[in-house]
Amino acid sequence: MKKKLNLSTKILIALIIGIFVGIVLQGSPDIANNFIKPFGTLFLNLIKLIVVPLVLASLVVGTFGLGDVKKIGKIGGKTLAYFLLTTAFAVILGLILANLLKVGAGYTIPVDAAADAKEIPKFVDTLLNIIPTNPFKAVVDGNMLQIIVFALMLGTSIMAVGEKGKPLQAGFEGLAEAMYKMTGAIMEYAPYGVFALIVPVVAVHGPKVLLPLLKVIVVVYLGCILHAVLVYGGSLKIIANFSPIRFFKTIAPASIFAFTTASSAATLPLTMKSTEEMGVPKSITSFVIPLGATINMDGTALYQGVCAFFIAQVYGLNLTIGQQLTVILTATLASIGTAGVPGAGLIMLTMVLQAIGLPLEGLALIAGIDRILDMARTSLNITGDAACAIVVAASEKELITDVPKEISA
Ligand code: ASP
Repeated sequence: MKKKLNLSTKILIALIIGIFVGIVLQGSPDIANNFIKPFGTLFLNLIKLIVVPLVLASLVVGTFGLGDVKKIGKIGGKTLAYFLLTTAFAVILGLILANLLKVGAGYTIPVDAAADAKEIPKFVDTLLNIIPTNPFKAVVDGNMLQIIVFALMLGTSIMAVGEKGKPLQAGFEGLAEAMYKMTGAIMEYAPYGVFALIVPVVAVHGPKVLLPLLKVIVVVYLGCILHAVLVYGGSLKIIANFSPIRFFKTIAPASIFAFTTASSAATLPLTMKSTEEMGVPKSITSFVIPLGATINMDGTALYQGVCAFFIAQVYGLNLTIGQQLTVILTATLASIGTAGVPGAGLIMLTMVLQAIGLPLEGLALIAGIDRILDMARTSLNITGDAACAIVVAASEKELITDVPKEISA
């Protein structure tokens, strides 16, 4: 009696085998980079290809799917409230753990540490830039924030024109369905993609790179796990009366995928699929998840809190309570502005360091292990999006309780 393995089990097995192969190849990372990595890149490209049309179509469908402007406002308000509160909590948790576990103690700065601090956009410019002057350019450039704004406006307008908007509505619905189908087909290749992505990461980041900064890694990973259990598990149980165990089981394939790709945007199709499997109606899923993949980054915020504290301690500075409050505010904002692609959080960390006057060279300390931290924070980022969708759906009494077994398996 041979049982066919489901996709999430296959992805998990691929991850574990990949880690082993990566360890074996540590002496010769070139093999991993030249022969295995390309298959991972191929897979990432396939996934990225879906993201722009998927976000556009599903957000337009999600917006008019909500039915009326009042409902969009209500669901939008709840979603943003959940996003902001959980993100601020994540930074606070990061700071508490960093304080308690003295994350930077015993580590001295290598003298030649130098970071090529990248220019980060000014906050006002970021705000102004959210409105695309040319939505087609936004689509071509893959500018997610702009695409979101345009999609929300377009969806609302299609709804407002009524009968005459129907053909366009059908068109976007068709596009969204086609993108879901395409996602399903590409996901068949996921176990191989995950394997090919994780091998070079492990092979290149041998123990030499990891050990000196082990404490930062432990604090970030611990923080991510605690945040998921306490905040998501807690809010699901208390607000939505939803089993946290079922939640973590169903979201696992998306979380593992985020872990290996370190990209919320690339994980988007999978996060949507898992969220629907948990009974969130399509209209809410396609509204909350693309929005969350772009602006809701609890893992990134937590990581920025820990890193700011770490860098301060390494330079022999102690953050005052006022400075820590500034970290909470700036890390929350910085995480909103962070793109859902690998490494974006490190660049936005500049904003947090600048706000409290810490040396930007500190970034160089983190850069070596950033990929390892990125995997954990991205995993948390997308898990938070799914938790939000369930909480919002439950609060609207729209959570479907009798999802067919074969979908939720
Ligand atoms: N890689 C993260 C994500 O896609 C963003 C970050 O670098 O923090 O969610």
